[in-house]
Amino acid sequence: MRLVLLGPPGAGKGTQAQILVEAYGIPQLSTGDMLRAAIAAKTPLGLEAKAIVDRGDLVSDVIVSGIISDRMDEPDCAQGFILDGFPRTIAQADTLTHMLDRKGLHLNGVIEITADADVLVERIINRARESGGARADDNEEVLRKRLAVYAEQTAPLVNYYAERGLLRTVDGMKPVEEVTAAIQQALQ
Ligand code: AMP
Repeated sequence: MRLVLLGPPGAGKGTQAQILVEAYGIPQLSTGDMLRAAIAAKTPLGLEAKAIVDRGDLVSDVIVSGIISDRMDEPDCAQGFILDGFPRTIAQADTLTHMLDRKGLHLNGVIEITADADVLVERIINRARESGGARADDNEEVLRKRLAVYAEQTAPLVNYYAERGLLRTVDGMKPVEEVTAAIQQALQ
């Protein structure tokens, strides 16, 4: 099973990805987690990405496409994966299509998780509070920037995948278990 989870920050992509990891026995590939790990480890990539991630902008398509392609080649991805936070631009989606073609693979579905903007702000502020400020980009000002970047650069992927017959939309305002059930039903 090869899936993409699409949705604005705070919609619940990470939460659902973790549940689907258990259900399908395939890994979650989160470009955000990979970038945060690189930043924490102060690798050359992390040093380059830090300021961009901290202000809520997108890291270059070339960088994220490279890290995701390498990650897909690891043995635990042989049965599939759940992409969380990638692709985020039309260019990344095109790159993903070509990357999968080259590897002889294809996507089984793209799950769009929708949510109201005001609820997203509230959820992210709570996440920041609960994590003790673990993420430098989880504050209201940067969140508003991330939501604007989502609307401008990532939301067009909804039509992109709808046109390709891959899009399934679920309501991310429902309780976590109901969202999971809706995703599993959409994948049958
Ligand atoms: P996330 O954890 O998915 O919310 O990602 C956190 C931050 O990492 C984003 O605000 C971007 O700065 C960066 N990032 C994550 N995934 C991507 C991507 N696919 N393309 C560009 N930047 C990304």
